[in-house]
Amino acid sequence: MQKEINLNDTIAAVATPCGESGIGIVRISGRRALSIADKVFVSQDGRKPSSFKTYTTHYGWIVNRSQKSEVRSQKNLSSVFCPLYSDGVIDEVILTVMRSPKSYTREDTVEINCHGGIIPLRKTLELVLDSGARLSRPGEFTQRAFLNGRIDLTQAEAVLDIIRAKSDYALSVSMGQLKGLLSNKLSQLRKKVLSLLSILEVNIEFPDQDLPAAEINKISCGLKQAARDLELILENASQGRVLREGIKAVICGKPNVGKSSLLNALLKCERSIVTPLAGTTRDTIEEVLDIKGIPVRVVDTAGIIQPRDLIERKAVSRSRRYIKEADLVLLVFDGSKNLSQEDRILMRKVGTKPTIALVNKIDLRQKLEDARIRKRFKGVVRISAKKLKNIDLLEEAVARF
Ligand code: GDP
Repeated sequence: MQKEINLNDTIAAVATPCGESGIGIVRISGRRALSIADKVFVSQDGRKPSSFKTYTTHYGWIVNRSQKSEVRSQKNLSSVFCPLYSDGVIDEVILTVMRSPKSYTREDTVEINCHGGIIPLRKTLELVLDSGARLSRPGEFTQRAFLNGRIDLTQAEAVLDIIRAKSDYALSVSMGQLKGLLSNKLSQLRKKVLSLLSILEVNIEFPDQDLPAAEINKISCGLKQAARDLELILENASQGRVLREGIKAVICGKPNVGKSSLLNALLKCERSIVTPLAGTTRDTIEEVLDIKGIPVRVVDTAGIIQPRDLIERKAVSRSRRYIKEADLVLLVFDGSKNLSQEDRILMRKVGTKPTIALVNKIDLRQKLEDARIRKRFKGVVRISAKKLKNIDLLEEAVARF
């Protein structure tokens, strides 16, 4: 069910990942952000957050004032202890105030930099919620930024893309989108189409006045250009999908052609491995590489063709599923051997999937007649996974894909 949107609520959440770190942030946004901060924060100089200037940070403590507390002499205490309260002190913090409209959500916003442990963050958040804030839903701060007109939908999407960027290139594209490059393109296009529409409407309203030929030509050219511009934006959208989700590439080949060596070679050449994925099974290994700015999820499949037992049968069916789901197949052949029946079975198996054929072990004496492979596949790259030869050519082929 669609949740009702209520911009009157003041929302709060822990803005940093759950775990242990030096710092963790509790963020509060909404009309009551400053009055809630007044209730939970004790500053070193005794001033209240509602009196702080925007974009200023303040040292102090998060204190649960409802707990019995006693005033102590400031002289006896070091600066890390709250001078006014002994009980109810939750954490020593830095608090930042960002007043409306110059904040991420365009609302009054308070960020509390706590120590990044689960307990101080949880207790600080609980106190903030008890003091009048509501726990935010996932993405609600960005939703408010959108609803309050600070960003449009393309920019809201870019925020998530920046967080999830898996390569430098993906990050720079998302940053461009956040800066409004896509929004500007779309609004310029909209303006052009609207001005063409107004000329057409004038002609419909006053049909007795014929449109001059030059004007008709201008409309026609303008519409064609707008269609071309839109097509370009749509093309870039699929590039955006690749940058967001990466290319799923699967390495296939019969046993011993050098599949694992190839994965290792790619890992060695690509220093910026994004992340080794969890869920690695005994028969498939999955890594995410950054190949020329494109995140490529590479799966090294089991090379079994004729399964001998249940485990191998499972491995084969998993490989088949990987091939089916892959965007790109890297089909490896052993250049030092003749083309075998198993190679032919695999060539059939990949079907119409986009495939780069890799003739491996070019450092050895070559026996493979690769004419048949060249006839079957457009992209053929000759490599040596062991000697790291032509891995750059393979990367170029993957990036071109
Ligand atoms: P997989 O079963 O397809 O994963 O093959 P491996 O990567 O385990 O390699 C099988 C054997 O071929 C190993 O002994 C590798 O060292 C060797 N090998 C892999 N690539 C090359 C290469 O480019 N040149 C040579 N000479 N040997 C290679």
